[in-house]
Amino acid sequence: MRPASPPAAKMICPMRFLSFLIILSLFPFAAAASDDGRSCENDTAVIDADFEGARMSDCNARTKKFKIRIDPENKPINPSPWYAFRVTPKTQDEIEIVIKYSDARHRYRPKRSEGDGVWRLVDEDRVKLRRKGKSVTLTLEPGTAPFIIAAQEMLIGEAYETWEKDIAARARLTRETIGSSVEGREITALFSAPQTARDEKEYVLFIGRQHPPELTGAFAMLPFLETVFADTQLAKAFRERFHIIAVPLMNPDGVANGHWRHNMNGVDLNRDWGPFTQPETRAVKATLDDIAADANSALRLMFDFHATNRNVFYTQTQEDVTRPPNFTQDWLAAARVRLDGYDFERAERHQSDLDTSKNYVFGRFGAPALTYEVGDKTDRQAIHHSAVIFAEEMMKELLAGAGSPLASAGE
Ligand SMILES: [Zn+2]
Repeated sequence: MRPASPPAAKMICPMRFLSFLIILSLFPFAAAASDDGRSCENDTAVIDADFEGARMSDCNARTKKFKIRIDPENKPINPSPWYAFRVTPKTQDEIEIVIKYSDARHRYRPKRSEGDGVWRLVDEDRVKLRRKGKSVTLTLEPGTAPFIIAAQEMLIGEAYETWEKDIAARARLTRETIGSSVEGREITALFSAPQTARDEKEYVLFIGRQHPPELTGAFAMLPFLETVFADTQLAKAFRERFHIIAVPLMNPDGVANGHWRHNMNGVDLNRDWGPFTQPETRAVKATLDDIAADANSALRLMFDFHATNRNVFYTQTQEDVTRPPNFTQDWLAAARVRLDGYDFERAERHQSDLDTSKNYVFGRFGAPALTYEVGDKTDRQAIHHSAVIFAEEMMKELLAGAGSPLASAGE
């Protein structure tokens, strides 16, 4: 007999996200199991992947257990083995599922949602790694209704749309389609401009979700943007000086199709900032081209939100001269003083041939450009809390800096 579950399973989603997590949860639970090979069934349960964001490459029902195979969308690929499938219990027996990864090892601790908008970690004693993590066996409590097992808490396109429209209405932002994905999904951006026209237009750019499974980056990006678009003195002063462009969901196809990393052409978008062979990266490049084409415009900052095995900021080196200067050092120092319970490091990276957003934006504009990486397992409340502080200190730091000497000369 396994020990009984604790009375209250750990809730891992920040309350703030609750409303739109509920919305996204309704969608998967409304779909019916299909007979197209994306489902399998035995006496204990039905398992299927017929919902947005699902990934289950093959499902095989045995008498007492299920065998699921998880493949990437194409190879070679970085090991971010995303999985998401739905379980519909038929009895009160425990449900045993063996997940086998092709070309990857277990990375994401399974989360479970009963459709109430809350995701809980599956208890550790119900998760057994086999063959050095090439497969994992889950022994699940049955429950009385369908539930979803996923690599991370799910955040699909519909949830982004709801969130973007809501914040656009509250903060009087413009929400525009700046391009469309390979499968024709809209790439949308939020724009904010100062109410009083200024001689020099200073821009900041925030992008996210180039890599679909990197949810903890999204859990930082949304509260970060909420802080920038908030009704506070600081945020209002910031928006009165800076033009803000935010593209929270750059790879909507990858998210919808449960990809490990790539877009629908099998391309890593964060290796396409240079070639620009993909519509998703070209959409953002077009907005950067507009800034570059205007002699009175300057890009001041770019953050690209991701997730990895720890909290880390990939930045320019101390020797690189950015405009504004010393932003990264001063900003991280100011944030660190206020942060308790959020360990992070700065990893300085020389400009390289890697076609990342960071290298491209710094190379073209000289602006501080950094990759905001959040650990896969970082406490969700800590991600939220720290993102607010990072946003506040970012705004203070940029507001303290003067405009560019060239543009302000002769005023
Ligand atoms: Zn990434």
